[in-house]
Amino acid sequence: MAKVLLTADRTLMSDYHRHEFVGFGTCAPPNVIPDWLYSWLFFPPIKTENGIPVAAPYGLRKIEAQLIKEGIDVLTVDLDHLNKYIDDAKVLGIHVMDPFGLGPASSTFAAVLKNEPFLAKHFRLLMETPAIRRAKRRGLKIIVGGPGVWQFKYRLKFVEEHGIDCIIDGEAEKVVGKIFRMALNDDELPQYYEVSLEETPGLDEIPDIVTPSINGLIEIGRGCSRGCKFCSVTLRPLRWYPYEKIMREISVNMESGYIAGACLHAEDVMLYGSPNTIPKDEKLLKLHELVVKKCEWMGWSHCSLAAVAAKPKLFAAIAEIIKQKQPWWGAEIGIETGSPELAKKIMPAKAHPFKPEQWPEVVRTGMGLMHDYGLVPACTLIVGSPEETEEDLIKTIELVDDLKDVKSLIVPLYFVPMGRLKNEDWFKCEEISGLYRELLIKCLKHDIRWIYSLIDDSFADRWYKPFITLLYKLFVRIVEYKCEKAGVPTR
Ligand code: SF4
Repeated sequence: MAKVLLTADRTLMSDYHRHEFVGFGTCAPPNVIPDWLYSWLFFPPIKTENGIPVAAPYGLRKIEAQLIKEGIDVLTVDLDHLNKYIDDAKVLGIHVMDPFGLGPASSTFAAVLKNEPFLAKHFRLLMETPAIRRAKRRGLKIIVGGPGVWQFKYRLKFVEEHGIDCIIDGEAEKVVGKIFRMALNDDELPQYYEVSLEETPGLDEIPDIVTPSINGLIEIGRGCSRGCKFCSVTLRPLRWYPYEKIMREISVNMESGYIAGACLHAEDVMLYGSPNTIPKDEKLLKLHELVVKKCEWMGWSHCSLAAVAAKPKLFAAIAEIIKQKQPWWGAEIGIETGSPELAKKIMPAKAHPFKPEQWPEVVRTGMGLMHDYGLVPACTLIVGSPEETEEDLIKTIELVDDLKDVKSLIVPLYFVPMGRLKNEDWFKCEEISGLYRELLIKCLKHDIRWIYSLIDDSFADRWYKPFITLLYKLFVRIVEYKCEKAGVPTR
């Protein structure tokens, strides 16, 4: 039996009905439908074989691969089956994304609906699992890592009460072996280990995953050169993986027999292979040709509006390649603001190669191209940035209005102090009124306008489409009804 186990909470161990974006539902608190139904709709448990999940979060798979590479006996186990494996384990590694619901999406939902988001509740439940508590009493070491670890700095009491021995912050490939070995040898662990810039792994120090990732998510690169002030990704160096590495990881997923496609992950997929903010035609085309040839479907995690607007012909050619296999695809897109003045202050390179003054036009052009060529974006706006003025908010409202005919979702998120703005104040909005209310309602109306057809599109290829789409649509209808009753128009 393995001495090191890895796991994650219920909201992370799900394939979200094979739609990464359905996973956004984990950010909401309990609401208008029973919890069991909501959980099944938005984060059904991943399939397991003997307690071993058939796929797991990509970040956790990277750590697993690194530990295996260093000869450490490790096993990734589903939370509900920890009982079977934990008695022999000396160390438990836990992967976290948003453990206390302090991320932008969950903190916004929590503020509006005034309750604990599902993802925070399930992380808490994970830490309270009797099997973990029992193992903790006999000396199990708990090590936590993942993109959400910054939140532990705000929850020191929780760390102490739940016996978390070590928190690793940053890209951990070069340090996990050392830290897990220390835990196995009963050496004293650092409580908070911040991976330094020198310890950030180079391309050849990042291992390939060896077991499948949820929804075929595969990194194609790390880092971002745009340098937005509110973002922590930008503090890391930019690295693009070679085709061979990407294809090898896709093979791992496909050979599992469980995943037939790939979701390419980067902060801006359009910039694959580029050292700056101008897309590289040849690199991007070749990558997509290779992936489409191998996979039954593909998707993107994120892309930028500026890169799409800068190379419309390239974007059209990429869309043509992707649409050989499917009618549309999705990606997460950051609009953040409709104000050129605010863009200049907090994200001066977001519009590059265009000027920040052109930002609203870049957004309109990029979104128009996406609509025309079949990319459906899930867009974010930041509400309550430290320097935001009423004028800025009015411009954002106008921009959302301009986008009403673009098939998309637009989600306003409260400002969370991160990146170079980490010492600023959190945005607190006890009472949603005035321009904030106007913006939230505008986004709600936009989303309601498009959500019904998006539900149909998302499940078009499933035999159980009539059943599942009915449930999602019923859920949206109930939300609409509740909003209208509370005086919030949705149409
Ligand atoms: S473009 Fe996105 S990933 Fe890059 S710095 Fe800005 S917010 Fe971060």
